[in-house]
Amino acid sequence: MNKGLLSVDEALAQLLAGAVPVSAVEEVPAIEASGRILARAQRSTMDVPPMDNSAMDGYAVRSSDLERNGKLRVSQKIMAGSVGKPLEPETAARIFTGAPIPSGADAVVIQEETEAVDDSVVVKKKPKPGDWVRYVGSDIRKNSEILPAGKRLLPQDTGLAASVGIKTLPVFRKVRLGLFFTGDELVMPGEPLAPGRIYNSNRFTLRGLGEVFGCELRDYGIVPDSLEATREVLRRAAAECDLIVTSGGVSVGDADYVKPAVEAEGKLLMWRIAMKPGRPLAFGKVGGAAFIGLPGNPVSSFVTFLIFVRPFLLRTQGLTSVEPNSIAARADFDWPEPDTRREFLRVKWNAQGGLDLYPTQDSAVLTSTSWASGLVDNPAGQAIQKGDTVRFLPYSELYR
Ligand code: AMP
Ligand code: MG
Repeated sequence: MNKGLLSVDEALAQLLAGAVPVSAVEEVPAIEASGRILARAQRSTMDVPPMDNSAMDGYAVRSSDLERNGKLRVSQKIMAGSVGKPLEPETAARIFTGAPIPSGADAVVIQEETEAVDDSVVVKKKPKPGDWVRYVGSDIRKNSEILPAGKRLLPQDTGLAASVGIKTLPVFRKVRLGLFFTGDELVMPGEPLAPGRIYNSNRFTLRGLGEVFGCELRDYGIVPDSLEATREVLRRAAAECDLIVTSGGVSVGDADYVKPAVEAEGKLLMWRIAMKPGRPLAFGKVGGAAFIGLPGNPVSSFVTFLIFVRPFLLRTQGLTSVEPNSIAARADFDWPEPDTRREFLRVKWNAQGGLDLYPTQDSAVLTSTSWASGLVDNPAGQAIQKGDTVRFLPYSELYR
């Protein structure tokens, strides 16, 4: 039944084999680097913490001093940001969180376990050496790798870089993603919707996805269903973009000009993929730009973007890991009549930690994608019974 159809994995392998990572690297301020892809591994030029310091407010002591006597004179006070004197024998130093441990001291007694009496402190619980001390280099050792190359930088990664004094970071330049939308029936919201017309919802969905992945977007808008218009915009986009993604016009209907246009301007592979939603997919090259043509159907273009364009884009951006994390989750629904193709079902987490199914999986129903919290990746021909474990791809994992 799936004769002539390419499997999702075969299509993905062919796509990824054709993905060329951008090689240009730019040095950007670390404070603006969140979301960018790190081009070179970063090492720490220092130990963190840079000195032994107190983990709590309390008293720095020499633990052996407390073996005979539970009461010590307080000989100094050390605040965070200042350095104390060496600890006099048989005394304690009042110390605050983050302040350097004075030389001679080997432990901190937290203030909750002490009682201040005049200029002395009574220690109620005997400390062990090392108690409440954060040791130099215990978080990060000088010269150790703190961030690997090929990682999309999270906000906390830029914080980590800053914590060792890194001011700028080398990142790959942004991928230039060109988008256009074919179909004479398309109009933009705000324009009158003449009979037979529909709104260009894919423009919103695909542009938003391009933004999620930190692309530099070039939006060429709606392109009329004509060979000349399609060729012209393809040439323009190929000159300006790394990757061109389009919606619609990749079927084999009379008004489907994407195929002949890409063939005329470059090279094209047309695939019919064994997946639901989203059978037709086009992959090619126009000039120096890669080309991926998605189906026009809004659910199909959304799902095929996540399954194919996402990993292709990530690989082009220079990410090393492009496979989405999945979760083995419990289906709280039945799916008794699976398709012979691999299906991506729109589902939502419920309060019981299981997955509910959107009641209609019709690929024209965009509501399902908005309602859902992710997709179940269901193998071809596999029925699902309530309680079964399924492979869940949450949007939170697909969107990174
Ligand atoms: P096509 O792939 O061009 O045959 O389009 C398949 C279906 O998707 C048709 O019903 C189109 O009207 C619809 N469609 C195509 N492009 C868009 C778009 N940009 N936004 C919403 N629906 C679209
Ligand atoms: Mg069309």
